[in-house]
Amino acid sequence: MRTVMRFVNHRIIPLARKRPVVSAKCLYEGCGWTAETSDDLAVVDRQGMSHTGLSPHHAMFGRTFEDVAIVQRVSQWPTTTGRSSPASPDY
Ligand SMILES: [Zn+2]
Repeated sequence: MRTVMRFVNHRIIPLARKRPVVSAKCLYEGCGWTAETSDDLAVVDRQGMSHTGLSPHHAMFGRTFEDVAIVQRVSQWPTTTGRSSPASPDY
């Protein structure tokens, strides 16, 4: 019995039509403040600056950015340009 190995290339890219969701939390020990999540970083940053304005020692924040990424299969067959082209996404 003969085994044939076939490798398929993939790539992962952000889903362009969806902006990353940003959130932030205050890192001051014992403070549980968190910003309301938004897809606008400036909105989250303004919330953090307001929090610091009310509590001056609370000036460090952990920010998280969450996006949606999609994996695409990349074709191994050469095109007329001699380069591989990505397969059509299924979304
Ligand atoms: Zn705080």
